[in-house]
Amino acid sequence: MSSTLDLSISRRQFIAAAGVGAAVTLIPRSLFAQKKGIVPTMIDDAAKSKIEAYHLRRGISVLEGSGGNIAVLTGKDGKLLIDSGFSVSKARIIQALNNLSADPITQLINTHWHVDHTDGNDWVHSAGAVITAHENTKKHLSTSTRVEGWQYTFPPAPAGAIPTTIFSDEHRVHHNDTNIALKYYSPAHTDSDISVVFEEGDVIHVGDTLWNGIYPFIDYSTGGNIDGMIRATERNLSVITDKTIVIPGHGSVAKRADVIEFRDMLTTIRANVAVLKKQGKSLDESIAAKPTAAYDAKWGQFLITPAFFTTLVYSGV
Ligand SMILES: [Zn+2]
Repeated sequence: MSSTLDLSISRRQFIAAAGVGAAVTLIPRSLFAQKKGIVPTMIDDAAKSKIEAYHLRRGISVLEGSGGNIAVLTGKDGKLLIDSGFSVSKARIIQALNNLSADPITQLINTHWHVDHTDGNDWVHSAGAVITAHENTKKHLSTSTRVEGWQYTFPPAPAGAIPTTIFSDEHRVHHNDTNIALKYYSPAHTDSDISVVFEEGDVIHVGDTLWNGIYPFIDYSTGGNIDGMIRATERNLSVITDKTIVIPGHGSVAKRADVIEFRDMLTTIRANVAVLKKQGKSLDESIAAKPTAAYDAKWGQFLITPAFFTTLVYSGV
């Protein structure tokens, strides 16, 4: 099993390396916090990380430690997962799932197409899950897809990893006596982002439209942009209350106040960068002006550095 995983990673690294020379790179490598690049860093982190499980409400738990946060709904119809993390975490995710209950896995929903949320799709499908996602998640997983911001080209995902239930705007699932509402955001972090609401439990998984306490990645290569991120955050605020439990794509489980803080960070930095760009400042000059300075101590401590986040915002204003 591990040799298969190693092969798939080295194939990806090979393709990524092959792609660097072929494409004009939008983002200088010097902006990455890690010399080896974001995707290998995320995989290495997942390979080392423990999986931490937290019960939230009404059979809903969250697993942290393998790329994006995984939500789990347990019960008689089998486990429903939201996102599948990295496949290097398979054994530890299975152990964490078994600790929650003995139910088999029967459903998987992807919040968007990115590898840190879908790399485990193939094994989760093999374990028995039907996969549901936005139609653009299927589209990006089905073909070779370049993410310029990660300087990485992903090969098509294996057949078992491709979602078979897809939708364009809204979709509903009834599972384990729970009404689950899926809704497309329109382009935000990517062009495939959806929210998933567990209605009775008042729990929402917002995917990578929220990075709790950390600067977010925005994937311009597959349709994301800063204004879409802000619109998605406003929509999140319009549907949650002080009682809602918010599962972000990255970072710990959040409350409404955290989403407000994230919105204010995004809008302030967007305005700061827009002023610099309007003044005719280059990207390098804009980074040097430190438009994120007031937020860096809190938000700039993860994968996306202040300079990289400035670059992402600059690309979209
Ligand atoms: Zn993502």
